[in-house]
Amino acid sequence: MEPQSPITQDVLTIPRKLPEGKQNLVGLTRAGLKEALLAAGTKEKQAKMRVNQIWQWIYHWGVRDFADMTNLAKDYRAMLERNFVIELPKVVQKLVSEDGTRKYLVKIAGGHEVEVVYIPEDDRGTLCISSQVGCTLTCSFCHTGTQKLVRNLTASEIVGQIMMARDDLGEWPVPGAPKDETRLLSNIVLMGMGEPLYNFENVRDAMKIAMDPEGISLSRRRITLSTSGVVPGIARTAEEIGCLLAISFHATTDETRDVLVPINKRWNIEQLLEALASYPNLSNSERITFEYVMLAGVNDSDEDAHRLIDHIKRHNIPAKINLIPFNEWPGSPYKRSSNNRIRAFANIIYQAGYASPIRKTRGDDIMAACGQLKSATERARKSRKEIAAEAGL
Ligand code: SAH
Ligand code: SF4
Repeated sequence: MEPQSPITQDVLTIPRKLPEGKQNLVGLTRAGLKEALLAAGTKEKQAKMRVNQIWQWIYHWGVRDFADMTNLAKDYRAMLERNFVIELPKVVQKLVSEDGTRKYLVKIAGGHEVEVVYIPEDDRGTLCISSQVGCTLTCSFCHTGTQKLVRNLTASEIVGQIMMARDDLGEWPVPGAPKDETRLLSNIVLMGMGEPLYNFENVRDAMKIAMDPEGISLSRRRITLSTSGVVPGIARTAEEIGCLLAISFHATTDETRDVLVPINKRWNIEQLLEALASYPNLSNSERITFEYVMLAGVNDSDEDAHRLIDHIKRHNIPAKINLIPFNEWPGSPYKRSSNNRIRAFANIIYQAGYASPIRKTRGDDIMAACGQLKSATERARKSRKEIAAEAGL
């Protein structure tokens, strides 16, 4: 038996209530879709084919209306219409930054809101999606961490964020048109609100749908899951999702990491590094990203940089280190390290033979930057005093 953690993950996922008891098909796995179609009267013999057809309509063509599923008989379409819907979370606000970053505020069942950010770059477009409303964890530098966990998102709400963004980008294929290989939405990062490994099944099912070659068809190498260090979830991610991994590392001693990323009290740096070292398929092309937020005077010394390299080398982990200039938010208890300090830190890492890109802050003018996501409407807030106490200030 594992000792009980003070950090719990047993929060309910509350499914969306639908009109007239209709079931939403978005977010069902292939097996789940088959079950739903059988329950609605589809013949066993035909079920596999119907799953394939409907799957392609929803996830390849982006169709929302059963009437448009032209390779299905009329009666069958009517049956689908009676029993099911194809529904996405609703966009209630969209902000576009000077640099082209788009932030969507999305409403889900229960009236809660989550944020989704689209970041266009020259050779790719990355969508940063959320896995929970709020977060159970309380990383002291993170704005989401000041918001209590409201609930886990369903698989439907997670994959729905991707579909919603494709809608907004106008990126569903047009029948008959030549296949466009350049994708506006080419990469997914699970770096929005919430800890994805505390909502494992829903995140897994949603990512499986996003990777399915008959649908959205994103390569597993274009999906990065970021975790604060839920150690048992790391091996499971490799086995059941197979995507790339990023770790919110942020500190090089347990003493500091206990404060910045309190889950460190449950699984410390050494346990975390061991789990990372055994992440399979570790090769140079699938390196683990160490995310490291630069906080003035807290974790940004030369000694920290050397210790960080030492940790990674000691465990022989193919890694790149992504330095994130701290994004301040109203009431945040830290300051961003100076540009000179960040460059000096990056240089030590680079000299040791590791890539050390400094993350460009995108969408700062619309509060879309890393760690700034937090729904403005949430009332369950911690006080400034609580935040300061947790940060040990
Ligand atoms: N819960 C997951 C994923 C969401 S956070 C995790 O912690 O990894 C995505 C990234 O943004 C993490 O590396 C997180 O540490 C970082 N982050 C959070 N707040 C930030 C802030 N204010 N400035 C810069 N990065 C921040
Ligand atoms: Fe949660 Fe990640 Fe923010 Fe920590 S950094 S509070 S795990 S969202």
